[in-house]
Amino acid sequence: DIDLAGRIANLMGADNRASVVHAVADVDLEIRPGEVIGVVGESGCGKSTLGRVIAGINPPTEGTVSYLGKPIGDMNATERRAWGLGVQMIFQNPMASLNPRMRVMDIVGEAPVVHGLVKAKDKAEYVGALMRQVGLDPDYAQRYPHQFSGGQRQRIGIARALALKPRLIVCDEAVAALDVSIQAQVLNLFLALRREFDLTYLFISHNLGVVGHVSDRVVIMYLGRIVEVAPTETIFNAPNHPYTQALLSELPTLETTRRAYQPIKGELPSPLAPPSGCAFHPRCPHAMPRCQVEAPQLRTLQPGHTSACHLNDLPA
Ligand code: SF4
Ligand code: MG
Repeated sequence: DIDLAGRIANLMGADNRASVVHAVADVDLEIRPGEVIGVVGESGCGKSTLGRVIAGINPPTEGTVSYLGKPIGDMNATERRAWGLGVQMIFQNPMASLNPRMRVMDIVGEAPVVHGLVKAKDKAEYVGALMRQVGLDPDYAQRYPHQFSGGQRQRIGIARALALKPRLIVCDEAVAALDVSIQAQVLNLFLALRREFDLTYLFISHNLGVVGHVSDRVVIMYLGRIVEVAPTETIFNAPNHPYTQALLSELPTLETTRRAYQPIKGELPSPLAPPSGCAFHPRCPHAMPRCQVEAPQLRTLQPGHTSACHLNDLPA
């Protein structure tokens, strides 16, 4: 198994009253209430691990995650419970994450009753309202997951997450398995729910195009490290990191000006044995001798825009 959690969790640190999850200042990955953050990278880059650490599914091997200003290591049982409920995760394959022997009524309604968020006698009404909010007919509450389409099952997964009244939802490739036409519907549902439920999202995807459609800010990861963080507009119009530029060159269509960025070359190295120095150096068109030996640190280029590339140290 790939253990990237340590390096990643190191990034999650300091606290801030205004943030749901906050990262240390030099990394600039505070997640602000109501925003949508996209995390993009090739498979094996650690983006799923980052999501799972934030959602508390994987423990950080080092470092800390803070929720609502409190490091999880310092939390009492009540605060841990609030974190567990407050951060919910939605996965790529709704069939695998929904119990096939449970009816939607229980898939969505059981946990909120157990956690005391709703009384047992109000469960049916609660589930019915949630189903309506995600665009499902409440009359289907007695059905089983296999009786729904892929897109409908993902809506059940969303209703299940919403039932716990989360503040942050981590979506890991949440639309990747759906048909393109259905993807847009589900993405639009996410955006509508964001306003309605005052939600914050961390959207994990290998597809910069999908993430660009929904995100306020984008985090680019490569082999377990964050290489660039910027507002979505900046990522598309003025990307700094050569890896981000390579990802952009591979997007099939872009409304923004097409740039002459070179597409990414070579295979993704094993995350178990990342290249020395800057892990991107074997694939980077701008690699310098220094890149093979020294790992670049994230540097703030402008407020809200950080990138880890030695080119930023060169005189302009
Ligand atoms: Fe390329 Fe060097 Fe920048 Fe890494 S540090 S992205 S190898 S120029
Ligand atoms: Mg993944």
